[in-house]
Amino acid sequence: MALIVQKYGGTSVGDTERMKNVARRCLAAQKAGHDVVVVVSAMSGETNRLLKLVAQITDRPNEREQDVVVATGEQVSIGLVALAIQAQGGEAVSFLGHQVRIVTDSTFSKARIKSIDAEPIRAALARKQIVVVAGFQGVDETGSVTTLGRGGSDTTGVALAAALKADACEIYTDVDGVYTTDPNVCPAAKKLDRITYEEMLELASLGAKVLQIRSVEFAMKYKVPLWVKSSFTEDPGTLVCEEDASMEDVLVRGVAYDRNEAKITVVGVPDQPGAAAKLFGALDAKHIVVDLIVQNLSRDGRTDVTFTVAKADFVKAHEVVKQAAQEVGATGVEVDDTIAKVSIVGVGMRNHSGVAARMFQTLSQEGINIQLISTSEIKTSCVIHTKYTELAVRALHTAFGLDAPPAVAATDTVSEADAFQGTKA
Ligand code: ADP
Ligand code: ASP
Ligand code: MG
Repeated sequence: MALIVQKYGGTSVGDTERMKNVARRCLAAQKAGHDVVVVVSAMSGETNRLLKLVAQITDRPNEREQDVVVATGEQVSIGLVALAIQAQGGEAVSFLGHQVRIVTDSTFSKARIKSIDAEPIRAALARKQIVVVAGFQGVDETGSVTTLGRGGSDTTGVALAAALKADACEIYTDVDGVYTTDPNVCPAAKKLDRITYEEMLELASLGAKVLQIRSVEFAMKYKVPLWVKSSFTEDPGTLVCEEDASMEDVLVRGVAYDRNEAKITVVGVPDQPGAAAKLFGALDAKHIVVDLIVQNLSRDGRTDVTFTVAKADFVKAHEVVKQAAQEVGATGVEVDDTIAKVSIVGVGMRNHSGVAARMFQTLSQEGINIQLISTSEIKTSCVIHTKYTELAVRALHTAFGLDAPPAVAATDTVSEADAFQGTKA
């Protein structure tokens, strides 16, 4: 007998028929002898609908109150799924975040989980109940409702699996696993049987929304065996797991894109100690996460600093930076929210040169201009104009040999020779 945490995303609980399907799956797992904890998201579209209501009231919502509103979507789902399980003859009990003490910090709209009280869940499991927990939400030390950021139900699922020392965490979604890139953008994308925690972490942080970044961090830290599966098929899905030697044979595991960032350039920053510290210190004070940062060569004692932030933080970041730019004596601030970041990821990149050059070559062959570049051990990212996103993703997918062969059985590995005939970087 095992303890399994299953998380069902918005599409999987998109209507009451689909909730009945979730109930059937939970009951089947229980019948197979397992203890089952189910984490559910809001019905698809619901969180967006709630955010739109907030936007109709104000474009500068108080984040505590916004969380009170957007956390409600998951409450509806847990009640309905628990009822669906009961209607099929099962035993179920639902819990909101605060009822299982999912304690977070007070960073409303992107709170981080600090602790979970597993006892109420264990007690319910001992009563042979299926436990249905609201994803995405928690409670801070003062009792205020918090939410964990978009896609946060994944993190609820994995954090619960870690807290309960579950045997597996299964993330059920609308695709049957993790693909070499978003299958909804690139029809040639291939499903992966396995992917390393590290690669998944990079893909998630570079925009592959199939798993929220924090969920992968939790899984990696607590070594939770993490599966991504479809709630509509019986496909075994993709296992996110530790790296083994064979996984390094693949140069590029996947391609990701992110259209949710915007670019800010502070022009004419005095080239002196403390300027960058002041600019980025001001952003940090407002909890704004900065992604890429590029500082240009200084001319005449001044330099330009460009960086990217999440679109959701764009208005706030622009205001903060305008003020800070004045304080450091910069000459101006320019903004651009028509950007996209495309990235290639693979642990095999650690030991191979020329991958970045191959990426730049591919984009140039498509006539795509690169605005910013960022690299790390296992990834290379380029910021481009947003209108080229799909073209770039498909071209890179092909260039690195990731396309599924039309008539041949797909595998998740590709030889280096197939994947790469590149020049040295
Ligand atoms: P859920 O509502 O179940 O949480 P999401 O919409 O958050 O589902 O995540 C699933 C979506 O992630 C897929 O429909 C797909 O478009 C997208 N996606 C992006 N990159 C990938 C990838 N590499 N593999 C699989 N899905 C991906
Ligand atoms: N309902 C939340 C969202 O849409 C959380 C989730 O689905 O994971 O982002
Ligand atoms: Mg999601």
